[in-house]
Amino acid sequence: MLDLALTSDQEQLVDTVRDFCAREFAPTIAANDRAGHHDPEIFAKLASIGLPGVCFPQRYGGYGLDYLALGLVCEELEYVDTVYRTVLSVHVGLVGMGLYTWATEDQKQRWLAPMARGEKLACYGLTEPNAGSDVASMQSTARRNGDNYILNGQKIWVSDADTADFLLVFAKTDPKAEGRGITAFMLDRVACGKALRTEPIEGRMGIRAGDVGSIFMSDVEVSEADRIGDEGDGFKIAMSCLDNGRYTVAAGATGTVRASLDASVKYARERKTFGQEIGRYQLVQQMVAQMSRDYEICRLLYFKVAWMKNKGLRHTRNVSMAKQYATDAAFNAANDAIEVHGAYGYSSEYPVERFLRNARAPIIYEGTREVHTILQGEYALGYREDRPVKKSLPPYQPD
Ligand SMILES: Cc1cc2nc3c(=O)[nH]c(=O)nc-3n(C[C@H](O)[C@H](O)[C@H](O)COP(=O)(O)OP(=O)(O)OC[C@H]3O[C@@H](n4cnc5c(N)ncnc54)[C@H](O)[C@@H]3O)c2cc1C
Repeated sequence: MLDLALTSDQEQLVDTVRDFCAREFAPTIAANDRAGHHDPEIFAKLASIGLPGVCFPQRYGGYGLDYLALGLVCEELEYVDTVYRTVLSVHVGLVGMGLYTWATEDQKQRWLAPMARGEKLACYGLTEPNAGSDVASMQSTARRNGDNYILNGQKIWVSDADTADFLLVFAKTDPKAEGRGITAFMLDRVACGKALRTEPIEGRMGIRAGDVGSIFMSDVEVSEADRIGDEGDGFKIAMSCLDNGRYTVAAGATGTVRASLDASVKYARERKTFGQEIGRYQLVQQMVAQMSRDYEICRLLYFKVAWMKNKGLRHTRNVSMAKQYATDAAFNAANDAIEVHGAYGYSSEYPVERFLRNARAPIIYEGTREVHTILQGEYALGYREDRPVKKSLPPYQPD
């Protein structure tokens, strides 16, 4: 039986997060965005209502809700601003769920549990100056040294690079082996000392109240016990992390569509030209209708992925569709919301120009529009299929 109704736990969660965001984040985001000010308390605030542990079992410090709960939270966070959703996307989606899938029991207790309890913030360092879409061409290296590895290289465009306590990074243990030579490691900023340096990237178009930066590794020493998976598993781990990150990006972008729709409806009912509300004009209705249609489509796409995650089904194809559709829809909705607002939409007096600037990066990160188009074309043509994998995200099981 198909049932899209939220459970009472999920409804309560949505209400809690919505109220919290309206109280804690909405009043300051426009000023922070204008000033390019990153509020260092964002993660602590998210942790104060348990969000870093939303979908992890209690034995790993979580709240034991299902994967749809995570998507609903992301939608609510991005409804206010992409920066809040980004923190959760990276921390829970890219890193936490990656550890939940790939880490040993001991590693889950050492890394995942403090993350889920909201004590430590994590980031995900995959991209390099010369390796974005082409992950296998990364140049960072991890050289064996007894029971340790020595890491060298640079990561760039890493969300929360400059504020994270824990860093999931990827480097080549076999530089000649392309994708099969990549290995994943967890780093603790404090333990790495001066061998690890991070710095923010300035002059960004959007997500200006966020932290995006570079990671520099100069002879970073990591114990074998902090290697995630086997040597050479790094590419598979990175891709399985992206299946989770993309889900949170899709759900978040759905929040931008809804925010653009709500702002447009409000303005269209207030603004009058030629003696009537602009909402009465069919050309304005066309833009609002597209936003409302896209909101439903985006939500259904991420709900389906949530259902597949809950069941433990492979969902690389579906999450690619959900991410690409929702990020394009969010950008289009924000762009049309500016049109509905006329010149006022072009001003920071209204939030819609911020929505547009924020909506650009999610089309690029976690697979560009072109990368997802290629993936979906290959699936549709039968050149690619979702086969069983070495390790999958555990299905949802109530605690
Ligand atoms: C705000 C922001 C936050 C980010 N956060 C993170 C993070 O937390 N961690 C992290 O590791 N990375 C992060 N990234 C990096 C992001 O994932 C990469 O920018 C992205 O994967 C694209 O890589 P690139 O920028 O090197 O572009 P390139 O790979 O150089 O691509 C450039 C252009 O060429 C196109 N292209 C490339 N290859 C092909 C092909 N085969 N066929 C057709 N077209 C192609 C691309 O679609 C794109 O249009 C972030 C980026 C941004 C902007």
